Amino acid sequence: MSESSDKVIGIDLGTFNSCVAVVENGTPVVIANRGGYQVTPSMVAITEAGKRLVGHIAKRQAVTNAENTVYAAKRLIGRKFASPQVSNAASTSPFKIVEGPHGDCRIQLRDKIYSVPEISAMILQDMKLIADEYLGHEVTRAVVTVPAYFNDNQRQATRDAGQIAGLDVIRIINEPTSAALAYGFGKNIDRTVAVYDLGGGTFDISVMEISSSGVFKVISTAGDTFLGGEDFDQRVINWLVEGFQEEHGIDLRQDRMALQRLKDAAEKAKCELSAVVETEVNLPFIISSARNEALHLQRLLTRAKLEELTADLIDRTVKICEMTLEEAGLATDEVEDVVLVGGMTRMPRVQQAVTKFFEREPCKGVHPDHVVGLGASIQAAALVDDSPEMDMVLLDVTPHTLGIMVSGGYFEEVIAQNSTVPTSETKPFTTVRDDQTAVKILVLQGESRRAEENELLGEFALTGLRKAPAGEVEIEVTFEINADGIVSVFAKDLDTGKEQSITVTASSGLTEDEISAMMDDANDYAVARKADEEIEGAKQEATILVAEIEKLFPEVEKVVAGSDFGREALDKARVVIARAQTLMDRGDAASLKEHIDALQRTQRMFKGVVGKAD
Ligand code: AMP
Repeated sequence: MSESSDKVIGIDLGTFNSCVAVVENGTPVVIANRGGYQVTPSMVAITEAGKRLVGHIAKRQAVTNAENTVYAAKRLIGRKFASPQVSNAASTSPFKIVEGPHGDCRIQLRDKIYSVPEISAMILQDMKLIADEYLGHEVTRAVVTVPAYFNDNQRQATRDAGQIAGLDVIRIINEPTSAALAYGFGKNIDRTVAVYDLGGGTFDISVMEISSSGVFKVISTAGDTFLGGEDFDQRVINWLVEGFQEEHGIDLRQDRMALQRLKDAAEKAKCELSAVVETEVNLPFIISSARNEALHLQRLLTRAKLEELTADLIDRTVKICEMTLEEAGLATDEVEDVVLVGGMTRMPRVQQAVTKFFEREPCKGVHPDHVVGLGASIQAAALVDDSPEMDMVLLDVTPHTLGIMVSGGYFEEVIAQNSTVPTSETKPFTTVRDDQTAVKILVLQGESRRAEENELLGEFALTGLRKAPAGEVEIEVTFEINADGIVSVFAKDLDTGKEQSITVTASSGLTEDEISAMMDDANDYAVARKADEEIEGAKQEATILVAEIEKLFPEVEKVVAGSDFGREALDKARVVIARAQTLMDRGDAASLKEHIDALQRTQRMFKGVVGKAD
């Protein structure tokens, strides 16, 4: 296999933006899309005509097609419909969130219902196509990043998304680890580093040790999957909405279009306030009054006000940092470098809070939007390239405690939070009732002592136990976490040696059949996109040729007007141009491509007539 066809890409599948990168000649590079953008909005829309739009084009039409444009799907991935986080998102999203057949949440766009992994797959597929185009061949393998705090369901769902997109996700790595990898790669340093990652939807903090021998070891990690830039936007939206209500007595939240415009304006103002100290939010014709007058929203927002509105959000990130350092057994001055990741770290108040807490300025020279994707590409290359410069070891940790439910509804830990993965732990349990012949193993993830408050990852039963008094039959439960953070559980009856196991598949996820149907749809899209590209290319070529022929027309007319042959040639040329126009209007790529020959012939003939033959 050639070096290039062996390439594995790294994808940062972000809440708001995604980024794809690849290592070329030992250097990680971000791949720009066709428009020249290095990051692509993680947005998907379905147009009135049923066409799928992804990325910038989806973002551009979001205001006019708010109900059918999905953003921040990552906040919903791997979550149950009934979870408070989904209810919260459902109440503020312009698109419709509905309950799926597995208690999962799904998204309705026009008349079709999509699973969340399917939406994420559309974004991943776009990233794949960007890489395909850049590398000049199809890429089939990728390393995808997820927030460190993602639980097993969320990881599995991300993996499903890769599969639907036609990508073999060979490794899932945590975003902060990925950032540290990009930061430390090729630097030959021995350092304790904190990665503070505040993105559009999630907050993560990781403390890790980077060693010059190429070992990247996470010591501790924590975060909040529902704390990010969107919450900052929401604060601004609320402030605008409340102000408007006071002034006009109208609740703008009732109007989806107004809400989408407010969302855009709030985010824009927030970003602007990273550079200036005040900005005006100006939304003309935001809504009509009861008397049908057009009302406008106009309000000055200062940086100080934004900081006041969001102070508690920033404080929450600092608290999590505090906890993480404590967990790692480190004092703040033992952290030697702080790396900032995520668009929100451009906010001056965030930088000040980080500087104050860690008592040092964060590192410069790390691009907060690219660093995660670059790290993923480094890990991708390291997995397939055995040259010494790509020699590195990533030692991540499990962000949650894993265990099972025991009698009384309690949660019994098997693997502790922040254990280095891959890992495996075994614990003995016994039957709790006389003559108990089966045990049900409920696999849970979380930090609560009460089982029901933790996330249920899966369940299975161990049957055929020997009848005996309670406590006599011993069962050994083993938990294994692989390098992707995905969990397998085995239970063994020590009496009979009988064993049962499960690889925990997302209980709120998708079945294999569903995934395969979605893969077919994704494939259709790739074909449709290819067809789009073909027609666009042919149209461009034809348009140039037609313009050149039309430009030469008057001159040619002058030269050949006297002869019948000449007039005939001119008539023919007119027919050729008209047909090109028809084929372009019809979007018939195949016929247009064939017709380009006729256009070229005409152009050559015209050039010959006026003496400009090339
Ligand atoms: P990410 O998920 O890393 O792409 O971060 C996206 C988040 O960063 C969004 O909430 C953006 O509004 C926010 N963001 C981007 N640029 C800025 C900026 N200059 N100032 C404040 N927030 C920003």
